[in-house]
Amino acid sequence: MICGSMFSGKTEELIRRMKRAKFAKQKVEIFKPSIDTRYSDEDVVSHDQNSIHSTPIDSSGNILLLASDIDVVGIDEAQFLDEGLTEVCNKLAYNGVRVIVAGLDMDYKGVPFGPIPALCAIADEVTKVHAICVKCGALAYVSHRLIADNRRVMLGEQQEYEPLCRECYKKATQGEANKNV
Ligand code: ZN
Repeated sequence: MICGSMFSGKTEELIRRMKRAKFAKQKVEIFKPSIDTRYSDEDVVSHDQNSIHSTPIDSSGNILLLASDIDVVGIDEAQFLDEGLTEVCNKLAYNGVRVIVAGLDMDYKGVPFGPIPALCAIADEVTKVHAICVKCGALAYVSHRLIADNRRVMLGEQQEYEPLCRECYKKATQGEANKNV
């Protein structure tokens, strides 16, 4: 399990591990929710354009159908997939498949996101990666949304989100609350 905020390098870490397995002649396949079409329909593309081929899926159940005969299954942006993903990953792991999942730990309000908390609980290993707070340079804790939009799922990049540490997030959200009064 690779989890963390936006701009923390989750996808880069997933790609690194998948490429390493591929180099060892293991059969690898990356899946990502079809909702995430920010860069390309078919490629998992990280912010630094270091890409690897992926298969878009609508639901976690598709992974079991598509992952037969695969040694290493990678799943990117897993927070957008359904809660059934936990059982799918367990099934794969019990069948001897190595499963590497990357996802946002929390939404922009700091609430645990979709199947990620359950996946962290059942994972053999959890790597929490951190971005750097853009205000003070400490390790970031959450992806703060810069524009007023209350939808939970809003795909974004640097214009819409900024990584902040707990202290700077507190200041930023208090400022917003005062503005709205
Ligand atoms: Zn800070």
